[in-house]
Amino acid sequence: MDKLPRTTEVAIIGGGVIGLAVARALALRGVRDVLVIERDRLGAESSGAAAGMLAPQAEADSADEFFHLCRGSRDLYPVFAAELLEETGIDIQLETTGTLYLGLNEEDVKELDLRYDWQSKAGLSVERLSSESARKLEPSISESVLMALRFPLDTQVENRRLIEALAASNQNRGVHLATDTSVNSVTLARGRISGLETSRGFVATERIVIAAGAWSSLLTASDESGVLPPDSALPALGIEPVRGQMLCFDSNPAIFSHVVYSPRAYVVPRRDGRLLAGSTTEHVGFDKQVTAEGVGSIHAAAMEISPGIGSLALKESWAGLRPRTPDGLPVLGAYAEIEGLFYAIGHYRNGILLAPITGELIADAVVDGATPGSLNAFAPERFAPVCVR
Ligand SMILES: Cc1cc2nc3c(=O)[nH]c(=O)nc-3n(C[C@H](O)[C@H](O)[C@H](O)COP(=O)(O)OP(=O)(O)OC[C@H]3O[C@@H](n4cnc5c(N)ncnc54)[C@H](O)[C@@H]3O)c2cc1C
Repeated sequence: MDKLPRTTEVAIIGGGVIGLAVARALALRGVRDVLVIERDRLGAESSGAAAGMLAPQAEADSADEFFHLCRGSRDLYPVFAAELLEETGIDIQLETTGTLYLGLNEEDVKELDLRYDWQSKAGLSVERLSSESARKLEPSISESVLMALRFPLDTQVENRRLIEALAASNQNRGVHLATDTSVNSVTLARGRISGLETSRGFVATERIVIAAGAWSSLLTASDESGVLPPDSALPALGIEPVRGQMLCFDSNPAIFSHVVYSPRAYVVPRRDGRLLAGSTTEHVGFDKQVTAEGVGSIHAAAMEISPGIGSLALKESWAGLRPRTPDGLPVLGAYAEIEGLFYAIGHYRNGILLAPITGELIADAVVDGATPGSLNAFAPERFAPVCVR
């Protein structure tokens, strides 16, 4: 195991897709001394459990700030994927086939028609397909399909390859990746960041980015000047773990070319013949078990999309914990009350999608102190601030 540096310019807590994307963006801006601290292996949690869909349009019902953030990040992906391939030789398998969203009953059709209306009026790329056209595109979908929407620009990546590529890119750029190392607390001196207590000793730093996913609210702070009581919580709390279970089928030869959604499930075909099906939305704390009920409900909803899934071999199943804030939106940027503290948390169902833009925005905030007004909806201060002075 590499020696842990005793001092660093910027420390990032969490080696999921968000921590790694932020680290790479900082290195690209010339920050020489970046340390990522991950208590397990890189991508061990939600980032490795995800389905990898980049689908801002498929589930959006209005063009709010969050939609613009998601769409902006999706549109960064072609360059992001090409750069990662060039830097590391790892292809993150950015697909370009698009996403198909099925209407399987009258309620679904009503919902999809509204989505089609606002998105086509807004000039977004969306197609309304009859059941025949949908089945021509994807012959394995259910014969009961009534209509479908196709989102040609909503795509997917292989998120586990994305983690590998980000790790390799960071290593090439001299970022220090410390795995199997836990952050126990963040230390402050006179209301400013002064370092981190870790399972391998103290690291002095003036800037910390919290990217600890569903565990972000468990981090505590200790104040060397004694202003804060010992083990007090850091601000911007309220991150809750939301369990999502996933099934993985053997589907060789592939039965789908698109990512296919219904309002009750999605299926994601991978290039290697795996077919992922998800997911559940469960508020069960930090419990990552796969349950019989979860498997049953995903299986049933996936078979509604395509009865053929019933005859595929189930290869694997897993669960991950999505990091959710009380309003469901991410927390991005500097926390004004504590100098040197930045948040990149709460990406909930869209952390893979939002990784490239989060990297850019947080690097801007750390390096230039820049936080565009368009990010107000995601400011840490919208949650009860803690006054440390
Ligand atoms: C079933 C499922 C399907 C999903 N599908 C999609 C999808 O299709 N598209 C999409 O965009 N998103 C999807 N998501 C959401 C996405 O996975 C998350 O939003 C994203 O992975 C969050 O990334 P993160 O880096 O913030 O968190 P994580 O990947 O959880 O990383 C946080 C890391 O911090 C580490 N950590 C925590 N505490 C400490 C500590 N004290 N010290 C050191 N390290 C610590 C953890 O070990 C962990 O590795 C899905 C999620 C699930 C569960």
